[in-house]
Amino acid sequence: MTETMEITKVPARRGRMIALDAGDLVDIVNVHGGQVVDTWAFARDNPAEYMSMEHSHVLHYRLNFRPGDALCTDNWRTIMTFVEDTSPGIHDTLCPACCEPSYNIFYGHEGYHDNCSDNLKGQFEELGVPFHRVPTPWNLFMETIVENSNDLKDMPSTTRPGQYVRLRAEIDCYFAVSACPQDLIVINGDDGVPRDVELHVRRAGSRS
Ligand SMILES: [Zn+2]
Repeated sequence: MTETMEITKVPARRGRMIALDAGDLVDIVNVHGGQVVDTWAFARDNPAEYMSMEHSHVLHYRLNFRPGDALCTDNWRTIMTFVEDTSPGIHDTLCPACCEPSYNIFYGHEGYHDNCSDNLKGQFEELGVPFHRVPTPWNLFMETIVENSNDLKDMPSTTRPGQYVRLRAEIDCYFAVSACPQDLIVINGDDGVPRDVELHVRRAGSRS
């Protein structure tokens, strides 16, 4: 059997959304290392229903997810499974996606700044899918940690080139990512420079 792999390049500071069928595998590949990737999934039969960090917290009763864990929607349907992780394994589940006001308010940036919220909205427009909201993303490779059981602390991502997270779609879904354009604080690697990532998809049909 020859397994085919579809590669979607996600340029630095940009977003991409692809349709996955139940059973498809997607690797989020940190090609150059250190890049934070905001990650979302939406049910294809109801794009208002989204992979929910809050519901998934309660499902597992912890803040960080591990390989083998299911990720569920705001309607408690399992939408993806966390299959494999070759990275250091810290993936923030608490921070909302960056947006234009967040760069103004928290970092004093004047004028427009690329942001993950607009990247997601733009992908809905490009695919012609009804847009409802920007849910809290699963911030893959983002090493915001909880200290003293209460305090949040941003650390630079220590993900190395080529490390990846593998997910499996459990229902037909739209899968979206944004290569976070944050360049005003150092979360994207040691130098804070946003970089490209890739999605590697193996279709369930091609593996049967
Ligand atoms: Zn961002």
